[in-house]
Amino acid sequence: MAIVERIAGMQEEMTAWRRDIHAYPELGFEETRTAGFVAEKLESFGLVVHRGVGRTGVVGVLRAGKGNRSVGLRADMDALPIQEANTFAHRSRHDGKMHACGHDGHTTMLLGAAKYLAQTRAFDGTVNFIFQPAEEGIGGARAMIEDGLFERFPCEAVFGMHNRPSLPVGSFAVRSGAMMAAGGFFDIHVLGKGAHGARPESSVDPVVVAAHIVTALQTIVSRNVPPVQTAVVSVTRIQAGAAYNVIPDSAQVAGTVRAFSRAVMEQMDAAVRRIAKGVAEGLGARAEVDLRWIFAPTVNHAAEAEFAASVCNEIVGVEHVDRDPQLIMASEDFSFMLEKVPGCYINIGTAEGESRCEVHNPGYDFNDRALPLGVSFFTRLVETRLRKGA
Ligand SMILES: [Zn+2]
Ligand SMILES: [Zn+2]
Repeated sequence: MAIVERIAGMQEEMTAWRRDIHAYPELGFEETRTAGFVAEKLESFGLVVHRGVGRTGVVGVLRAGKGNRSVGLRADMDALPIQEANTFAHRSRHDGKMHACGHDGHTTMLLGAAKYLAQTRAFDGTVNFIFQPAEEGIGGARAMIEDGLFERFPCEAVFGMHNRPSLPVGSFAVRSGAMMAAGGFFDIHVLGKGAHGARPESSVDPVVVAAHIVTALQTIVSRNVPPVQTAVVSVTRIQAGAAYNVIPDSAQVAGTVRAFSRAVMEQMDAAVRRIAKGVAEGLGARAEVDLRWIFAPTVNHAAEAEFAASVCNEIVGVEHVDRDPQLIMASEDFSFMLEKVPGCYINIGTAEGESRCEVHNPGYDFNDRALPLGVSFFTRLVETRLRKGA
């Protein structure tokens, strides 16, 4: 593996950073300690630091030479509302909160890259180190974009990285095109008319209406979305009533829709509304639909994906770079940045021995052995893309 000695030598220091961040997890838009930690480190490396970009986001700017080319590197800082089950020394000190998605590792790798590049400055141009808040479904990327992220810190291209616990340490995964799914949440409020359970003729039963809506929603993927496209409609919650002998006057149906393209998302968005309202009306009830798009599809730009893969090849060898990783329907907030600026999102392997605990699990912990590999990716990316004298 082509890890420069200086980066390998940062292992101990970076492990300490990572475990410190892990011990004090903060939820989305509450990352004040983490953002402070990041900002202080960046300042100590000599970067120009901008705090409060998109509420708790931080951007560090590093310039070298006179070139006007630029690149953005992004990490996420937020934790999840999970009670940690681990008992090691760096376990969460915040009850009910946990770095169960490895964002502590992502933040540390980007800090490591900032430190190394600030010392070596073997590039010509500007690197914007983007530390975003609230990746886990509450809009941190959008908050930064709306706060003028790419106007204030122009980036020719932007790159992000997420750990993948099913992929061995010393490997990367990257593909052109769709990498992660778009995701939306919906709430359907069915309004009927309550009655005694023994007198259905006096009711407009919202439970029966909700049941028909759940069944009819299954036709979206099977009958509306083209068979060669990938889509999911999952109803994950039904709530109504409180007694055996009372027909309630309303029912709630909630769930998620996922797809790899905006076109399919739009189709599903329209279909959920049409079916819920149409079925309810047909049965004499009424349905109110609230469907929110939480994530855009994460779509890697072809040229940037090729470039990112070539950097990975250089670090771990072509045989350890999976160019066609199996797609999953999970989502990623970085998608919104990729809709504004060309770029690429890659996975870094963290699996080692038996420790393959998946993310969003109370037993998860980021594998610190992957830290130098992530730093190597970011630093080689910058040194190659913003090559001196190019
Ligand atoms: Zn996550
Ligand atoms: Zn994550």
